[in-house]
This record gives sequence, C-alpha cells and structure tokens, in this order.
Amino acid sequence: MKKLLMGGTIVDGSGNTGYRGNVLLEDGKIAALGNIQPSGDMEVLDVSGLVVAPGFIDTHSHSDLDVLLHPQVIPKVMQGITTEILGQDGISMAPLPRQYISSWRKNLAGLDGDSDEISWEYGDTDHYLNLVEKARPGINECYLVPHGNIRMEAMGLDNRLPTEDERKKMCDITRREMEAGAWGLSTGLIYMPCAYGDSDELVAMSKVVAEYDGCFVVHQRSEADAILDSMEEVIRIGRESGVRIHWSHFKVCGKKNWDKVEKVMELLEKAKAEGIRVSFDQYPYIAGSTMLGVILPPWVHNGGTNKVLERLKDPSLREKMVYDIKHGIPGWDNFVDFAGLDRIFVASVKNHKNEDAVGLNLIELGRLRGKDAYEAAFDLLYEEENAVGMVDFYGQEEHVQRFMKLPEMNCCTDGLLCPGKPHPRLYGAFPRILGKYVREDKVLTLEEAVYKMTKKPAMTFGLKGRGEIKENYCADLTVFDPKTIRDTGTFEDPVQFPDGIAYVIVNGVTTIDRGRHTERRAGKVLRKNRQEA
Ligand SMILES: [Zn+2]
Repeated sequence: MKKLLMGGTIVDGSGNTGYRGNVLLEDGKIAALGNIQPSGDMEVLDVSGLVVAPGFIDTHSHSDLDVLLHPQVIPKVMQGITTEILGQDGISMAPLPRQYISSWRKNLAGLDGDSDEISWEYGDTDHYLNLVEKARPGINECYLVPHGNIRMEAMGLDNRLPTEDERKKMCDITRREMEAGAWGLSTGLIYMPCAYGDSDELVAMSKVVAEYDGCFVVHQRSEADAILDSMEEVIRIGRESGVRIHWSHFKVCGKKNWDKVEKVMELLEKAKAEGIRVSFDQYPYIAGSTMLGVILPPWVHNGGTNKVLERLKDPSLREKMVYDIKHGIPGWDNFVDFAGLDRIFVASVKNHKNEDAVGLNLIELGRLRGKDAYEAAFDLLYEEENAVGMVDFYGQEEHVQRFMKLPEMNCCTDGLLCPGKPHPRLYGAFPRILGKYVREDKVLTLEEAVYKMTKKPAMTFGLKGRGEIKENYCADLTVFDPKTIRDTGTFEDPVQFPDGIAYVIVNGVTTIDRGRHTERRAGKVLRKNRQEA
C-alpha cells in the first residue's frame, strides 16, 4: 500500500532549508514529493508540525553480536537510526578462524558482549552477513572488515610484524571480504592485535580497499599524548594508498593534551590541501566508552585474551602492570593517566556477583572491595574474563562543539550494547544533537545537523540511494518534533529512550509509530559491491 506523509516540513538531508510538502512512499521507495493529495489507496500519516528527515545513519556502531540476538536493534531505531555500520575498531565478528573462537570471544566481550546462543562457526564475512540477514534486522546493516580479524587469520595473535607472505595474505583476505560486500577496512590501533601492526601493512591493505572505493576507518593509535604522530600516520596511509580516510570518534583525550587541538585542526587542513580525502565521526559527549581491558599495558595483551587472564593471576606481573600504568610507556594511550582512576567507571559486567561494581569508579570499586583500586580492577577483569565495559571522562565541551561544526564531521553513537549502565550515547546521541546542540545551544542549524546524520555519511561511505529525501531513493525516514526532541538518558540512568521521535520508517515499513515500536523489521544487509544502480 502507498503511504502519504502529510503536512510536515521536509528537511531533505542536502543541507538546504526545509520546506512544507508531502512525501509519497511506494514499494519501499520515495515515489513523489510535493503537493500530493491523498487518495483511497494510500495510508495517510498526519505529520503536521513535524520534521520529515531521511533516516539517520550511524557510522560507528557495535551491534555486531547483539543484532543476531535482538534484531530489532531497539536503542538505535528508537533514536531515528535506519542504517548502521558494523565491524568497527579493527575487532569484530568476521573473519574468525575456528581455532581462535574461544580467545576472540573474550577479546570482544567488553565491547560487543558475548553469547552462547549464536553459532560462532561462520568463518568469514559472507557467512557472518548471511547470519545477520537470517536474523532479519530491524534496520539496515553495513559491515567493515576489521584489521584485527584479518591479522588473526593471516598470522595469529602474536606481537610481531608480518612476513612478506603474511602481508600478502592479509591483502588477499581484505580482497575476499570486500568481494563479500564490506564497505571498507577498520582498525583500532589501541586494540590487540591491531596495535601490533605497522603503517606498511595498513597501506598494503588500504590499497586493496581503494580499488573498491572503500573507506579506511580508523581508531587511531593515540587520541592522547601522541595524537599528532598518530594523525600523521593515518594521513600517510591515505597518501600512500589513495584510500579515503575516516577517523572514528574524533577527540583529544586528557586535560594535558587539550592544547594540541590547534595542531590537530592544522593537520586536518594540511591533509585536505594535499588532496587526501578525510572525514570523521563524533558522538556528542565529553566521555567515551570501551572495554576496561584497555587500561592494561600493551604487553599484557600479547597472544590474546586467554593469555591476559593468565597474566592477571600472577602477582609479580600485576606489580609490573601497576608500574607501567603509573609511569607510562611512550606511544601507549594510558587511560588511567589521561582520565584518572576516579573518572573511569564500570559500565557493564556479565556475572551477577559483580553487578555491585556497575556505576562505580575505580577508586570506589577499590573501597567496596576493601582493596587498592588497581587490585580491584584487575580482580574484576579476571573474574569477568575481560567482559567489563567502562565509561571514561576525558574531554572538553569546547572541543565537542568545535569538531561538530567542521564540514568533515558526521554523527555517530559508538553505542555499546552491553548490560548494566551503558554510555548514554547508545540511546541518545542523535536526539542530543538535535535537542541540545541545535535547539538549545545553536551550534548547528537544523538543516546542518540533519545533513551530518544523513547525506554526509552516505557520501563518505558511498551508500547509494539513501541519506536524502529524493524521488526513487529508499524510503528510510525519521519524523521528529523539532520543538521537543531530546535525549533523556544520563550517565547515572542511561537506558532511556529519547523524546520527540514520532515515526521511523525503514525501507517503507513503519517501524516506530507515534513513538512506539511496531515489532516490524524491514532492515536489509547492504553489501557495497552489490548496490542497486
Ligand atoms: Zn573506537
């Protein structure tokens, strides 16, 4: 049946000023725009007073495992997201050779969760994407092939550089996964085993990705003390491979590094002036979230997560860990140093017995357990087999706003779908921009913000037929009230749906209807090399 959205203001994603008009949907597509009158064969939605925007695109998502368990992807669709990009930070689901399943599940657990309910024996990206397809996701799903998974398949989890043969194998795997429909290559150079890699292997793989016009998406080696060197490394990879560069969750971590922001801006400009294609995404908060295991020095991670757990048992190694955290290691992003033990909070655990730790900072955790903060954190990581999520406060509001205004920026959630007290961005990143940063603080106009949530990310990743309200584009739409939209979750109480989202339509199917989920799921797995023309 045709569907007519009547009386709304169309903010079409292009950045142009919104205008009054009706939108006609048919067969999952936008069939017509303008002064279309209702007829008997149409379902009519009265959207007067509301903004009709393209569905939001989340370019940094961690639903990779959860989409198989809870395919509605509720926290995303309830905030207006209709497409998300999985496979982030260089560590995700595929490829996953059988012999590494046990260790790899523990490596992912603090970021993506863990479950015995899914089959982990899918092997490569094509099979993983088939699993996602079979789960019938509620929103559209894209996948980046993660550097860490490629490296694991080519050469295991050791801390060393690849041989010539192994590097070639990494390129072959990259090609195989791009052929399976990946949108690019991701890496997370603070995570194992990505961190063991050097720029040369990333240049080699990025050349393959560039052949497919894919994106190189990077959580850079340092977002703190060594951020400028890290940016130079990323820019060099872009220069030497010709790949399009997209920084993940762009930021400067730690008070002592905040004055580097001018140089950060200069480096971006310099790269652009050289003709390197650069962009980045951002979640609008001054705190981040990842797995608590990142507080451990890099050597603790050598050989994979089962080895981490062995080392955590050894008191003399614990002593060395504390020493390295207190004194630092050059080039290593030391979270305890830049955030502080009192600004790192436990966000999630998997075992009931440690649920009392959720919401506490590491000092408070130590007090609760009657131990030193480090000992308490190490015990927690050990008992939970690394399945501990954390929230860390590192940033400055002025930077959030400054990066937000740059033309290279688009919005993301980086939301971790773990139990407990997830970072509120999981439920609120997009509405927060439309409420706080558009309506209240006037950092962006409404049209600019919608552009950064829709057309901008679609262009960056080469998503065809989405991200704008145009005839023949896919009928992914988010309808919201610009006067009331806002995020409602806080760090203390994060699991809260936003206000002001009226309708979310995915491929023509009404998935959110007057703020309520309809239980319908119409998302698709989108494969880059199999897009409709
Ligand atoms: Zn990241």
